Amino acid sequence: MLAVVGLWIFLDAAVAAASQLPAEIAVRGGYASPKPFWEAGARLDEYGINAVFVHSGSLSAELIARARAEGAKVYAEFPTLNGKGYVERHPEAWPINERGEREPPATWFMGVCPTEPKFRAFRMRELEQLLERFEIDGVWMDYVHWHAQFEEPEPVLPETCFSPTCLAAFEAATGIRLPEGATSERARWILANHEKAWRDWRCRVIADWAAEMRRIIERRRPKILLGIYHAPWTDEEFSGARRRILGLDFDLLAPLMDVFSPMVYHARMGRPAAWVRDYIEWFSRRLGIERGRRPHLWPIVQAHGEPRAVSAAEFAEVMRGGASGAASGLMMFTLRSVAEDAEKMKALRALYQGR
Ligand SMILES: [Zn+2]
Repeated sequence: MLAVVGLWIFLDAAVAAASQLPAEIAVRGGYASPKPFWEAGARLDEYGINAVFVHSGSLSAELIARARAEGAKVYAEFPTLNGKGYVERHPEAWPINERGEREPPATWFMGVCPTEPKFRAFRMRELEQLLERFEIDGVWMDYVHWHAQFEEPEPVLPETCFSPTCLAAFEAATGIRLPEGATSERARWILANHEKAWRDWRCRVIADWAAEMRRIIERRRPKILLGIYHAPWTDEEFSGARRRILGLDFDLLAPLMDVFSPMVYHARMGRPAAWVRDYIEWFSRRLGIERGRRPHLWPIVQAHGEPRAVSAAEFAEVMRGGASGAASGLMMFTLRSVAEDAEKMKALRALYQGR
């Protein structure tokens, strides 16, 4: 009996050691409030977690103090171009499609017109207040794209935004004079005659949001990091929709970012666990990521069992996939999903702590 127990301990230790992440993965993070983790009786340092990424609305001084006491840095997730709750009250910020109509929500996501000046001022003020209120280690921009849904197997990719502020800003930025007429006619004219200029300009609008947020951070808390959660698509996928529809141009964003966090949610996007590694390796090559240099790569992988269950073994596989390429950090969506599952807790400890 003793021998059997001894053998079991030996095997268990061997498995754990084999699955520990390499030392290059310096940032061992978790996304969402650590409260469920604490409620499960765990400490962050026991599990090797040295970074938590918490929704800015869930932050508190107590949470930050406790996370710090357990050796973790605290980063704030900042919903940037999320319009839900705003566009209903401020319809001038509703994204307008090529038919000149308000584009409906893209499944659960509602975007916003990124050039509407009152919305922009509102969001930047929220960032200022966040930085004033909390001593955080960084801000992670979330939902930094034109209205669309990319977190599903079949994305929703509407053509937006042809609102008066967008059309005027496009004219001003490019010098292209739009014909008079209904919004739908002007939209058709742009897409038929100046599609490239339109799509390039849309990417610059998104990058300009990142640039302004960077300026605010440098003024308020110059030492902290600016990161971005973003769609995990290559340049070609969905006919180039990452740039064409979302307006995410990696080359424009790279000089502005400290950290890229591709959202490699394999289960949500209906992809195999092995895809996570493929994407992280592609992304590392595509951006020429080098460990120890900006921009850094800290992917976010899926632990959450939705829309289907994600097993502990699968969780460990996507964590290893996320730690591949030139990644130097890692986190999972969400800490709660791990805290609620003893097997995932065990896997996390093996990955981050080697025991
Ligand atoms: Zn607009």
